[in-house]
Amino acid sequence: MTSLEQHLADHAQSTRYVDGAPRCACKCGKWIASIVERGPVKAHRHHVADTWREVRTVRAVEELDALPIGTVVQEDEYRHTWIRHSKKWHCSCDGTYVEWSSAGAFEELERRPLTILWTPEDGAL
Ligand SMILES: [Zn+2]
Ligand SMILES: [Zn+2]
Repeated sequence: MTSLEQHLADHAQSTRYVDGAPRCACKCGKWIASIVERGPVKAHRHHVADTWREVRTVRAVEELDALPIGTVVQEDEYRHTWIRHSKKWHCSCDGTYVEWSSAGAFEELERRPLTILWTPEDGAL
């Protein structure tokens, strides 16, 4: 799990020269402004936001199970918010007396993606 600080460092804006002309580029090498004249900074911000969203998206049970205790994830349709209190998870819809394994939670969601809202690495809210 990458921290936001690390993500921003990995996707810092830089300048790359294409045929001698400076272009607004991303440090990750996966984004470069196609044209210099209009809105490259804004577009780079979109790239940083999009890649951060992807980093925070859980698409496989192995990814879910690798998250540390204390993590909070949410189903994208906003029906379930899961809190990892141990190796197991609690879901907002059925209270703390029900426990879900990562596999069970993912199965319950029919493998819909989850968004990581918070992990202990994020620090105090
Ligand atoms: Zn990047
Ligand atoms: Zn639920």
